[in-house]
Order: sequence, then structure tokens, then C-alpha cells
Amino acid sequence: MDNCIFCRIANKELPAQIVYEDGGTVAFLDIHPVNPGHVLVVPKEHAATILDISPHSLTGVMDTVQRIAPAVLAGVGASGFNIGVNTGSVAGQAVMHFHLHLMPRFEGDGYELWHGPETSTDEIEAVAQKIREQIG
Ligand code: 5GP
Ligand code: ZN
Repeated sequence: MDNCIFCRIANKELPAQIVYEDGGTVAFLDIHPVNPGHVLVVPKEHAATILDISPHSLTGVMDTVQRIAPAVLAGVGASGFNIGVNTGSVAGQAVMHFHLHLMPRFEGDGYELWHGPETSTDEIEAVAQKIREQIG
């Protein structure tokens, strides 16, 4: 994909701080890190979202996360991390080449996970039923 920035980074046509690369994936630093060591792991195969990527490439991305996460944490002195995958513009996906955010976390860094409202058991059961029907 000529006009895809992450394909171009993977092909070394655009500069990036690559920290790891193997046959199927590239991991590089995000230019707007939420914390030091914020890494994007991308498949070399172009696919817009996690729903489009081949199972083989998806497995490769997760293998890379497992492989590099301890080094990322050690490199920046973090004690934990979040991983995130934004899928679709409504979820904040800006680059339409599947990528996984690996975001180191530090004590007191101020980020908080989302907290949902109290929801009744009946409401949760109704939603589960709708999803089960869709899965079939
Ligand atoms: P999204 O919102 O699509 O999940 O995340 C895209 C991420 O890519 C953002 O965190 C953004 O900072 C990062 N990003 C966008 N363009 C570039 C770029 O050219 N180089 C690098 N290294 N990161 C980028
Ligand atoms: Zn691409």
C-alpha cells in the first residue's frame, strides 16, 4: 500500500525508531507517546483492522508483544503496561493499518481505565443473549 504510513515505515521508506523486527512484524516508537516506551506493533502484511488481518499475522503480532514487552518495561523502568487496539474511527483508529499499542505504565502516571456504570443482571443477560444469537 503506497499511501499507508505504516506500510511505508515497515518498508523503511519513512523513518521510525524501530526497536524490533522479524519476518512478519515491526515494532516502533509512537511519535505521540502516552508514556515513554509507547510502542506500536504492526504486521508487515497490510490489513485495515484486526478483523481483516490473517490469523497468522495476528499471531505474529501477539508473539512480538510477548517477546519485547519485558525489554520495553526494563528499558524505560516501567512496572506494567496496557495494550490497546483501536478499531474503527468511532474507537479512535486514525491509521487504517492494524496496529497494537503497547503502553508502559508508571505508578502515579495519572491514566485511569474506563469505569462503566452499575448495570443490572437482567440488562447484562439481555445483551449476552443478543450476542449469542448473532454468533449462532
Ligand atoms: P490509532 O489512533 O490509529 O490507534 O493510533 C495511531 C497512532 O500512530 C497514534 O498514537 C499516533 O501517534 C501514531 N502515529 C501516527 N503517525 C505516525 C508516524 O508517522 N510515525 C509514528 N512512529 N507514529 C505515528
Ligand atoms: Zn499498510
